[in-house]
Amino acid sequence: MAQPNTAWDHHPEPLTVTSAPVPEYGSGSLADLLPTLAAGLGVPGMTAAISELAPADRNCVFLIDGLGWEQLRAHPEDAPFMTSLLATSRGGTGRPLTAGYPATTATSLASVGTGLPPGVHGLPGYTVRNPDTGELMNQLRWQPWAPPGAWQPYPTVFQLAHKAGVHAAQVSSPTFESTPLTKVALSGGTFLGRLTGEDRMDLAAEQLAAGDRSLVYTYFAEVDGAGHRFGVDSDTWRGQLMYVDRLVQRLAEQLPPRSALYVTADHGMIDVPFDEEHRIDFDEDWELSAGVALLGGEGRARHVYAVPGAANDVLTCWREVLGEQFWVASRDEAIAAGWFGPKIDERVHSRIGDVVAAARDDVLLIASEREPKESAMVGNHGSMTPAEQLVPLLEVRS
Ligand SMILES: [Zn+2]
Repeated sequence: MAQPNTAWDHHPEPLTVTSAPVPEYGSGSLADLLPTLAAGLGVPGMTAAISELAPADRNCVFLIDGLGWEQLRAHPEDAPFMTSLLATSRGGTGRPLTAGYPATTATSLASVGTGLPPGVHGLPGYTVRNPDTGELMNQLRWQPWAPPGAWQPYPTVFQLAHKAGVHAAQVSSPTFESTPLTKVALSGGTFLGRLTGEDRMDLAAEQLAAGDRSLVYTYFAEVDGAGHRFGVDSDTWRGQLMYVDRLVQRLAEQLPPRSALYVTADHGMIDVPFDEEHRIDFDEDWELSAGVALLGGEGRARHVYAVPGAANDVLTCWREVLGEQFWVASRDEAIAAGWFGPKIDERVHSRIGDVVAAARDDVLLIASEREPKESAMVGNHGSMTPAEQLVPLLEVRS
């Protein structure tokens, strides 16, 4: 299902469902990263899908929430260290990875940790319908609760690596230690919680050295938070970028022998203007809300669950109202076009909306009443545009 790389070089024309630039599942997506590293470490069953990478004996993945490829490239003066690594991105090709659809944290973290695309790991959105209850479920906060092991039954790459004798560890915020998302996406080996970025970098370096073969994950959240609140060009956002650039350098300078550090992100971001033209309000639009039982996803990546029998009417109406501002697909069309990966597990099928809408322009489909907080965000993400979909894969070796 992977698209040729040239799909990213121009806006696809004409506008159809299949012209959406689908993530490079199987060769250059976030889900391919850990399996490639684990294959290099000799973990059984893993495939080196990103052929350009040559993993080391000790590998660390540093995931910077919300730092897309395009935003990094637009701010070289705020991120001198990472900018110096752009030529080493994706195994020296100087190219980015694709996040996966939707380009949102819960989906991407599950793709990273399980090494599986969204259609298989089963976290295909920020909020999705739980077919067992008929209610929306927030995948990031895991609310309302559902049994994690049934929701995402596959082992993580960390668990498989740990079983194969590789030293596996995650160094992140203590608040994530026992969350269901960590359990289904990022567990296996040792979880170490540290509050500050500096402590996490120092500990990640120690953990790399703790095994002859190691697989370490670490994480920084605040670039994403600053982008949501203030926008990707704000002083606050740029301050966070400067700070995380120094964190990357701090870790790079402490790498033990035979190590590789891979710096990546879960998605990029795009600022959306505050006017009615760019922020279409579902809660105020009787046409868009007709026949809709549940509105899931987020402003740039919607799952629309229709009342029984209304799916076709909702699809027709959404296409008419949203025009060329969104790629609008039926569930079957989105699945066939490979938005969620080359394969969809049976249990995941009905978590996907009857209609799926992905923003193409700098627009949002907000819901001012049911989602007041999300509807007020400056920076947003979720869709398949390069600003959201492309993420760095920078490399430093010791
Ligand atoms: Zn975010």
